[in-house]
Amino acid sequence: MSQPIEVDVVVVGGGLAGLSAARRLDRAGVEWLLVEASDRIGGRVTTDTVDGWHLDRGFQVLNTAYPRVPALVDVDALDMRYFTPGVLVRRCGELHRLENPIREPLAAASALTSGVGTLSDRLKFAALATRCATLPPAKLLEARETTTQEFLRKAGLSHRMIEEVLRPFLSGVFADRSLDTSSHVFAMVLRSFARGRIGVPAAGMAAFPAAIAGPLPYPQLLIGARTLSVGPGMVVTEGGEIRCRAVIVATDPPSAAALLPGLPTPDMHGLTTFYFGADRAPLNEPTLVLDGDRREIIANTVVVSNAAPEYAPTGKSLIAASVVGVSAPSSASEAVIRVELSRLYGAPTDDWELLEVINIPNALPAARVPQAMLRKPVDLGDGLFVAGDHRDSPSIQGALAGGWRTAGAVLSWLGARVGAGR
Ligand SMILES: Cc1cc2nc3c(=O)[nH]c(=O)nc-3n(C[C@H](O)[C@H](O)[C@H](O)COP(=O)(O)OP(=O)(O)OC[C@H]3O[C@@H](n4cnc5c(N)ncnc54)[C@H](O)[C@@H]3O)c2cc1C
Repeated sequence: MSQPIEVDVVVVGGGLAGLSAARRLDRAGVEWLLVEASDRIGGRVTTDTVDGWHLDRGFQVLNTAYPRVPALVDVDALDMRYFTPGVLVRRCGELHRLENPIREPLAAASALTSGVGTLSDRLKFAALATRCATLPPAKLLEARETTTQEFLRKAGLSHRMIEEVLRPFLSGVFADRSLDTSSHVFAMVLRSFARGRIGVPAAGMAAFPAAIAGPLPYPQLLIGARTLSVGPGMVVTEGGEIRCRAVIVATDPPSAAALLPGLPTPDMHGLTTFYFGADRAPLNEPTLVLDGDRREIIANTVVVSNAAPEYAPTGKSLIAASVVGVSAPSSASEAVIRVELSRLYGAPTDDWELLEVINIPNALPAARVPQAMLRKPVDLGDGLFVAGDHRDSPSIQGALAGGWRTAGAVLSWLGARVGAGR
């Protein structure tokens, strides 16, 4: 005689995808449990608070235009602190501004004849951003899929505009310098940047997954329980076996591949964040600074506390510098980063305190062509399902949308009533 079913669904992994899936399962009224290996929920979105500094585990931002964000949380309650729309580009010793043509149309128009790129580049980029911001996503995904590099060239942008602005910017977004990310992923990223605002919760990025988990019954979140194996109707954790009807594996891609042999998973890109504390901010605005001199060491840097003073103790400034890839921390790498930051800000950095170097080898899945309209299959058969940023798109939105979509597939499979408001 088979053992009794303990729960309907087990969600493995308490990152954004797992939490999003749990929210949908909970609303549909099925019995579910979420098992998370680490000591906290949030996965790749988490914050360490040390001596008055909020250090997100890898600098990242929440974009308010991600559709699933307001669907899951009250954005006002997150107490968001926003960065400036647009970026500053350091080139040949000067800082040039590139405005967001959708969010700051007047400023963008007045800067058409100055700053980075030619007038033609700025007009073409504004047209591209407007197109991505205004066309429905389905239309954007109908366009021929190619690499981001080819897409930008086809849009008529000059080599200099691509190399001095877009490559440094996108290398931080995709954790990859190659620009071979799918144009469909790029179009959705540009859409979000053009339509939304980017920022961080005053209490740190960890406040975001905490808000998603807020309405969930806490006892159903089993924290510190690593899953060792999954199979049809069964999850084996370090704490024992759970019987279930369906399993959603919502782990990071390498862990998903280990739990679900045969699952195609993408290569992963690494990111390193250097956090420095300073007595004085090297810039007086909350704006991302890019390296237009093509040295390709720092992808982007920002004075985080100019947007979110809560990230630093009173009277101090927090500077984040994002570097593509990971390497063992050393005094040589720190010295190089200090020199580069000094050049990017035009300010001395030798009295800055290095607070932490955060290496994340599996920061983001590669999203090369083809990306299956950003909806890869999630139903693996026999009640096994998979969710995460590697099934949709490599972003917060991709993880949230993926978890929601997979929970919907599970509910259909269970024959349960799917909750309203899909
Ligand atoms: C440095 C950095 C910067 C980023 N910047 C941005 C940005 O600015 N904007 C943006 O949109 N996105 C950004 N991202 C990407 C975004 O954070 C991720 O796409 C998203 O958080 C992925 O969520 P997920 O739920 O798919 O996976 P994860 O967050 O990896 O969650 C998976 C969870 O599964 C757990 N787990 C793994 N194995 C097991 C097991 N065997 N048993 C139980 N649990 C297990 C893990 O502990 C983890 O909690 C960034 C990511 C990083 C790392």
